[in-house]
Amino acid sequence: MDSRRTHSSDVLDGVDPRQVVDAVERVVAIASIGGTPAEVTAQEFFAQAWTDDGFDVDTWHLDLPDLTTRADFPGMEVDRCAGVGVLARIPGTGSGPATLLLGHTDVVPPGDLSAWHTDPFTPVVADGQIIGRGTTDMKAGLVAAWFAARAVHTAGVPVPGDIYLAAVSGEEDGGLGTFALLDRLAARGIDIARCIIPEPTDLDIVPANGGALTFRLIARGAATHASRRREGVSAIEKFALALTALAELEAARNGAVDPLMQRWDVAYPLSIGTVQAGDWASTVPDLCIAEGRLGVALDETPDQARAALEQALAALSHTDPWLAEHPIEVQWWGGQFAPGRTDPAHPLVTSVAAAHEQITGRVPAIYGAPYGSDLRLLVGAGIPTLQYGPGDSAVAHAPNEWVSIDDVLTCTRTLITFLISPDLT
Ligand SMILES: [Zn+2]
Repeated sequence: MDSRRTHSSDVLDGVDPRQVVDAVERVVAIASIGGTPAEVTAQEFFAQAWTDDGFDVDTWHLDLPDLTTRADFPGMEVDRCAGVGVLARIPGTGSGPATLLLGHTDVVPPGDLSAWHTDPFTPVVADGQIIGRGTTDMKAGLVAAWFAARAVHTAGVPVPGDIYLAAVSGEEDGGLGTFALLDRLAARGIDIARCIIPEPTDLDIVPANGGALTFRLIARGAATHASRRREGVSAIEKFALALTALAELEAARNGAVDPLMQRWDVAYPLSIGTVQAGDWASTVPDLCIAEGRLGVALDETPDQARAALEQALAALSHTDPWLAEHPIEVQWWGGQFAPGRTDPAHPLVTSVAAAHEQITGRVPAIYGAPYGSDLRLLVGAGIPTLQYGPGDSAVAHAPNEWVSIDDVLTCTRTLITFLISPDLT
């Protein structure tokens, strides 16, 4: 056994599972729903906890009027009048690159409370699980990152590069917190070489995210009395033509996808979420408005994806005289998430995979996720980034959201192993 392994086992032994579970419970009890004052409370919790742990903590108020009017601002879908950034540093020996462990503290609303067996913000520990809103997405992951950094710090093991821990808010509705963090890092001249986001990946490694663009379609018709419908034009029927064209477009866009995305039936979904048309049962409707989401491929820009959808609708004018005169209008609004990817052969990916294998004895799966996240902002800033964390994204945003305590501890141990030996492969 080499000395790194010895260091590693000493540090791993320093993680007290009860303290980890207790920390997850305390954070989940803060109902930090995006846009509520508790979002700031959760950020302040981490600022205080990390200060108490002896980390070097930078806490600042987000300048929302400035950030939200920048050309590259990633978007915000809730009203928010305050935000706090929190960045902690655990110094390394200076001989290696800096690692950032980043997690968001905002959560989505609990939804229908009658679907919950417990109060969403009174966490319950039972059967090896912690249950509550935000357990999986992603307070348990952030606590795992915190306790990994804490164990390394407490053990006094020399690590080559600085370790940074960031808590961000506003992730669920666009990425305000990470956008602000990147601004802060640039202003302070802090050079981050790689980033791990412990979002729920079921302890698989996710080095890529597809993008997602929100759109609105407006189909127009000509209203008449339904008894004379042939003299009018139904906007619903014109929208149905668009629906068929979009289904064909989705199939074409998913014909040959990047190997990282091949595990998904539909890697880049094109989905209609809302349709509103007509205002009277016996009137031919003259307006149909639909909203949806267009997936962006890993090797595509949002502009290219937008053009593909617009071209598919424009092509309808060749087959439908009404649409030639009254083309379906496309508006792009709301979240506009670019895709992002880190090369799966990057040392960050291979090293985290090796650390996971050292802890569990299993080789983790490596693939891209079909949703957008803060990963894109970090990759866009030139920081190789991957997601690796406890919990299943399928239970994120769902009632009775839960996370496995064993998986939280495994994540903590993998991160410790990586932090101590970041070039493990
Ligand atoms: Zn999340």
